[in-house]
Amino acid sequence: MSMTDMQKILEEALVMGKEYTRQGECASYIPELGRADKHRLGICVYTREQKKFSAGDTKTRFTLQSISKVISLAMALEHCGFEKVFEKMNMEPSGDAFNSLIKLDLADNKPFNPMINAGAIATVGYLVSEINFEEMLEYTRRVCLDQEITLDQRVFDSEMSHCSRNRAIAYLLQSKGILENDVEESLEQYTRMCSLSVTAESLAGFGMVLAGGGLHPTTGQRLMDKSAVQVVKTIMLTCGMYDGSGEFAVRVGLPSKSGVGGGILSVAKQRMGIGIYGPALDEKGNSIAGRHMLEYLSQKLKLHLFAED
Ligand code: GLN
Repeated sequence: MSMTDMQKILEEALVMGKEYTRQGECASYIPELGRADKHRLGICVYTREQKKFSAGDTKTRFTLQSISKVISLAMALEHCGFEKVFEKMNMEPSGDAFNSLIKLDLADNKPFNPMINAGAIATVGYLVSEINFEEMLEYTRRVCLDQEITLDQRVFDSEMSHCSRNRAIAYLLQSKGILENDVEESLEQYTRMCSLSVTAESLAGFGMVLAGGGLHPTTGQRLMDKSAVQVVKTIMLTCGMYDGSGEFAVRVGLPSKSGVGGGILSVAKQRMGIGIYGPALDEKGNSIAGRHMLEYLSQKLKLHLFAED
């Protein structure tokens, strides 16, 4: 495919995506996120040939939110190992909202998966005694190929003063012996990771690293453990879009992770990383225009994991 073809497809996706922004709303349960302009929209593709294509707001900074769960999971797998991470956590889609705690107190008491809040708080909980925030930030900058990533203090403060639900989840995890390290420290570290500010370009870079099995796309340096990348991508495919993961897998067919800041990270194995910014969310907390743009791109470029010729 020529460069102009790819650019054209992204521009078309953007025009089509803009039709949807008015149907969604910015997250407001974290007041600072509610201040975003819901009509912003951007898409960036980083290809195996090391070409970057952008359309719309691809340099606007926004916070990672739930996309940080991918990073925390990869780090926990690398630092603690698969057995430890999944000793007290399952790897099944939940079918419930990302911040639900109902089923956590039922069934076998384990969080459903590391892509929802309960699982991610538990994951970060494993890490707090092993590594500090600076190391997590450095890792994030490396895998996103973006040295400019910093903590958005306003979003962090805003979430910390409105996090009763996550605090309830964290204490419930402690009561069940899942969270063994300090609860408040784990909650703060989780929230810090959610408050790192990225761009659609950083997400495309991260997507390309995942697409290439954990290697830096230009230097070939190993940035992530190969087996961690395999686990992370599988869980993104089955659980990355919260309780919308099943339909998204059918329509788009790419391992992806969304965040309530409006970002979506998508991975087309060996081919490209895709980063989206669109803060207007659907009722499940996924970027509404982002979902539609990814569906369009997946069809146009035949990116679906199970695409038939
Ligand atoms: N920081 C947010 C929370 O914990 C992240 C949720 C999300 O992006 N879905 O509620």
